[in-house]
Amino acid sequence: MPELPEVQTIINGLNSKIIEKKICRIAEYRKGTVENSLPNMDYGKVKLVERRGKYIIIKTTADCKIVIHLRMTGKLIFEVDSDKQSKYCRAEIFFSDGSRLIFDDVRTFGKIQIMKKNQAVPAIEELGAEPLSDQLNPEFLSKQLKNRKAPIRNLLLNQNIIAGLGNIYVLEILYRCKIDPRKQADRLSLKQIEKIVGQTKIVLKEAIEKNGTTISDYRSVEDQSGQFQNFLRVYQKKKCKCGTEIKRIKMAGRSTYFCPSCQQ
Ligand SMILES: [Zn+2]
Repeated sequence: MPELPEVQTIINGLNSKIIEKKICRIAEYRKGTVENSLPNMDYGKVKLVERRGKYIIIKTTADCKIVIHLRMTGKLIFEVDSDKQSKYCRAEIFFSDGSRLIFDDVRTFGKIQIMKKNQAVPAIEELGAEPLSDQLNPEFLSKQLKNRKAPIRNLLLNQNIIAGLGNIYVLEILYRCKIDPRKQADRLSLKQIEKIVGQTKIVLKEAIEKNGTTISDYRSVEDQSGQFQNFLRVYQKKKCKCGTEIKRIKMAGRSTYFCPSCQQ
């Protein structure tokens, strides 16, 4: 599933490709992919592409915005060649110069919502702190984790606390902080919370620099893989650099990796 660095990489790509392009048509090929509250409207030109958590928001010069969530397997591929097709194309955004943005999605959980500029997206309103902004700081996180008995790994995945983190980056962050993912959140010291905040920013920035992580099928808008998978230290690894075997357990139904010697 694309997490914050992958979504940011896609946004950086879109901002270099589709700004100023006039949207002439949005086509839906699989029912339920596009939710359009403004069917016959002039969509205007693309002004800016922004991110909030894992959401992609395309702002236009008209009174509209396009909100995209890629979910499990969604991809946005920018294409100038009109003959080129993609295998799991669910929708397309056509520009007046003949180029288009293909929304390819094998598992079909992704969504495109077209709405008025000031229309609120309830799921976005509920999102927690943006990890790369000052919103995420030790005071904020201490407050959020206070009296929480759940394992820290599960709470870091909660989009209403921190927006944008998924399983891969949460495990890398906890590994670098030397914190056991099963550790009860309210038992973390302030020092450990400070570490989590610091490493969250560092890991995400490094991953954005490497254009994200491609484990299965994430691609940038140029249909390129990310490179951060080559820099992961614990996710899907066999051995820690200390020599201990990395342990793999299931937490909330998903694989969790950690080093039982380094992470306490
Ligand atoms: Zn270790």
